[in-house]
Amino acid sequence: QNTMTPAAYERHTAELTNCIIAFLSPILPTEEEYRIKEATRRQLERLASKVSPGAKLLAFGSMANGFALRNSDMDLCCLTSKKDGKPATQHTASELVEILSQLIREETDFNVMPLPRARIPIIKISRAPTPELPYEIACDIGFENRLALENTRLLLSYAMVDPPRLRTLVLFLKVWSKRRKLNSPYTGTLSSYGYTLLALYFLTHVKRPAVLPNLQRVPPTRQLKPEELELDGHNIYFYDDVATLRKEWTSQNTENVGELLIEFFRYFSKEFSYAKDVISLRTEGGLLSKDSKSWNSELCIEDPFQMGYNVSRTVTKDGLYTIRGEFMRASRILMNPKSQRVSALIAELC
Ligand code: ATP
Ligand code: MG
Repeated sequence: QNTMTPAAYERHTAELTNCIIAFLSPILPTEEEYRIKEATRRQLERLASKVSPGAKLLAFGSMANGFALRNSDMDLCCLTSKKDGKPATQHTASELVEILSQLIREETDFNVMPLPRARIPIIKISRAPTPELPYEIACDIGFENRLALENTRLLLSYAMVDPPRLRTLVLFLKVWSKRRKLNSPYTGTLSSYGYTLLALYFLTHVKRPAVLPNLQRVPPTRQLKPEELELDGHNIYFYDDVATLRKEWTSQNTENVGELLIEFFRYFSKEFSYAKDVISLRTEGGLLSKDSKSWNSELCIEDPFQMGYNVSRTVTKDGLYTIRGEFMRASRILMNPKSQRVSALIAELC
C-alpha cells in the first residue's frame, strides 16, 4: 500500500531511479569484454567457414540485443544455407555439430561439448579466465536459427527507441531474477528472454500513456522485400527504422524507471490474470485468452513471431508460485517508506 504523500513518492521514485542506475553501472560489460567476445566470435567463424565455405557465425541474445550484463553467455548462430533457403552443404545440424566440435577441439583451447542429439543441436564451448584473458567465455553455437536472429533484432530495436527506461528496467529484472534464482528455465522458472517480453508487454500495452510503440503494428514506410515479411511461415515484420522512430516517437509517459519498476512488480503481483490470459505483444491490446489459443500452461507468453510457441512453457506451478511470491516481495520492499536509504532497499531486494 502506498502510504507516502505524492511529494514523498515522487522523491522516493527519483532516488530509486538513481540508485538503480548506480547499482547497474558496475555490472555492465566493459568495452574490453565486448572486444574479446567479438574476437572469439571471429575466431570461431573462421573455423565454421572451414567446415562450410562462407558460413557466418552471428551473435544473438544479450550480446547483440542491448541487454547484456557483465560475463553474459554468448549466443551464436551458425548460418550455412543461403538466403533463399538452399543448403550450401549436405550436412545436417547434428553432423555440423560433430564436425565443427572436432575442429574447435583441434584448433583452440576451448572446452567443447557437442550436443548433436538435443532437440535443437548445439555446441557448448567454454574457457576459464586467464591472467591474459580475464573473461570467462561460455558460448552456445546453434545452427540456422534465423528466428532467434530476428527476435534479437526486434529487442534491439525496442532497446533503441527508449534506451534509458526499457534497457534499465530489463537489466534490473535480469539481475534481480538471477540473484533470486528465478531465471532458470531448466528448473521451472523463466528465461531472460521471457522477463524481457514481460517488460515489453508492460511498457507497450499496460502503461497508459504507453512508454513504447508496438513495433509490430507500426505500418511500414517503404516497400518490403518478401524475406522481410515472412520466415519459415512466420510473420516477422516489425518497424525497424529506428532512426526515424527516435525522431518521431515521443512517449507522453514521463514516469521514471523507479516508478515503472514499482508498477511492474505491482501489476504482476496483483493485476495480471495468470489463469486466463496469454501475453501477445503483436496484438493490438497485448493479450489473448488461454481458451482462444487452447493453451493451458501456468504462464503463457506468446513468442513475438512464433505464434504457436509459448516462451514460458518451462514455468511450472511451483516456479510460478515462487515468481509471483517474489513479485509481491519486491513490491513490498520497494514501497517500504520506513527504510531511510533507497540503496539499502535495492540490496535487500536482490
Ligand atoms: P542472458 O544474458 O541471461 O543470457 P539473453 O538476453 O541472452 O540473457 P536468453 O534467455 O539467454 O536471453 O535468450 C537468448 C536468445 O535466445 C533470445 O534473444 C531468443 O532469441 C532466444 N530464446 C531464448 N529463450 C527462448 C525461448 N524460451 N523461446 C524462444 N527463443 C528463446
Ligand atoms: Mg544469453
